[in-house]
Amino acid sequence: MKLRSPARLLALLVPVALTACVAPQTRVPQVDDTRAQEETRKQREMVINEYVQSYRRLQGVASRIVVSGRELCGDKVAPYYGFTAWTQENFGKEWRDVVAAGFGIDTTPTVASVAPGSVAYQAGMKEGDIVRSVNGWIPSIGKDTIARFNEKIAAEGKLGVPVEFTVQRGTEEIKLSMMPEQACDFSVDLSPDDVKNAYADGSRIVIYKGMMEFFRSDEEVALVVSHELAHNAMKHIDAQQTNSTVGGIAGLLLDIAAALGGVNTGGDFSRAGSAIGAGVYSVDFEKEADYVGLYFMALANYDISDAPNFWRRMATTNSKAITMKSTHPTTPERFLGLETAVGEIKQKIEHGELLRPELGEIQTSKTTPEQPQVIPH
Ligand SMILES: [Zn+2]
Repeated sequence: MKLRSPARLLALLVPVALTACVAPQTRVPQVDDTRAQEETRKQREMVINEYVQSYRRLQGVASRIVVSGRELCGDKVAPYYGFTAWTQENFGKEWRDVVAAGFGIDTTPTVASVAPGSVAYQAGMKEGDIVRSVNGWIPSIGKDTIARFNEKIAAEGKLGVPVEFTVQRGTEEIKLSMMPEQACDFSVDLSPDDVKNAYADGSRIVIYKGMMEFFRSDEEVALVVSHELAHNAMKHIDAQQTNSTVGGIAGLLLDIAAALGGVNTGGDFSRAGSAIGAGVYSVDFEKEADYVGLYFMALANYDISDAPNFWRRMATTNSKAITMKSTHPTTPERFLGLETAVGEIKQKIEHGELLRPELGEIQTSKTTPEQPQVIPH
């Protein structure tokens, strides 16, 4: 007898098993194909619309923080306009029709967000503007369009003279002149994944859409962006990579990040971690990011009074975070740490003092950091 492979065996078994299934007994309404396609499109439009709203909200908050906090970013500053751009290439193939027709996103850089009050905002740039040229340079079309465009505007911004943009708005061509200002040089991205998470990888700050939905106010958005920015500004990735105590985690470092402190990430954490590789910081670095982050928030003129409460709210989404010590401080530690920092900053504001974090010896953990902990469902 010929041996059958498990796959062939399975192929033989399945039809037998299927005959045992019970067929529906009622007359279910028939779905029209054309209408199903229309509905698919409608639902995709809703997804994009929600993503775009979240994205603009995030960029608006982040813009204030990276500009006002530039003094805390040391040499990691660069010319900054306060707008971001994308093309259809930034969206998956099945979404391109929708973003082109419904949202006017072109194959050349299209303005995705203009932060209120920014240089771009004051110059009159509008979301949806299609950038035709930058100081006479015409953006290429293709996969790296946005990367090249960003490199170009960064380079032109360093020349010390206003940068001339030609944008298309409807059928009109408009010339806009902008003199960029200095800001912390870390891009801010919104991951479309429905995960309550955020991380910083030394050059970027990434907030997940699930996290954006959890925020109840712009102050909460600012708190998490500021925390992640503090990791980057304080060069925690560099520090950690040269720290021999983390030898075990080499290379691909994971970070459960700001808002986490032990929130249930299910499988998302490892997915996010293996896909991007951000840092797992020691508990002390987390405390420092909370502390310095609060200064970033205050410098951007966000009300910091409610910041400690955010950790009470996080505790209610996962009660294990109250006592769980892993890579992050527990939620009570974070609440109390922030409460003290709020007092310190408010006193400085009252006395008209410069808002700068108090420097001291960084107390790094002597213990070997634990592997990042994923809490099971
Ligand atoms: Zn963190």
